[in-house]
Amino acid sequence: MAELPSSSVTHQKLRDHGLQPSKARVTIYEWLMKNPVHPTVEVIYNALRPQLPSLSRTTVYNVLHAFVERGLADKVHSEDLELRYDGNISQHAHFKCTQCGELRDLMDIPDSVSIEVGLPNGFEPHTTAVTLWGFCARCAKKKRKRVRSASVV
Ligand SMILES: [Zn+2]
Ligand SMILES: [Zn+2]
Repeated sequence: MAELPSSSVTHQKLRDHGLQPSKARVTIYEWLMKNPVHPTVEVIYNALRPQLPSLSRTTVYNVLHAFVERGLADKVHSEDLELRYDGNISQHAHFKCTQCGELRDLMDIPDSVSIEVGLPNGFEPHTTAVTLWGFCARCAKKKRKRVRSASVV
């Protein structure tokens, strides 16, 4: 049996979430699935402009907003002002490199986290975000090198 082309899977997925599979929605959703980089509107706009010349930043924003509303994507909750989007809708932790800006997925956050952080009785959380900030392996290595070469001189 021939496998369905991925775009019909995407069409179905969008329909299942109450969205007409417009070209922009299909292209953006598939790009988001293939590139788990937690992109901003700007990143997606720049990546897809060559294949969708009529694409505007507003369209990208509106499409992502609809994905979030329909549960197809999540906004990344961090203290940064830049708004980044996540195609991984499970509740997972992130590592943010403060040097290069890479935002990497870590493991899913266990339900027990609200008990472990001492949530008082009667409180009802609806969103959990866990982010670790620091240097990714690449940046940490560069930093060590800089420190070493500085101490040689
Ligand atoms: Zn880095
Ligand atoms: Zn993520």
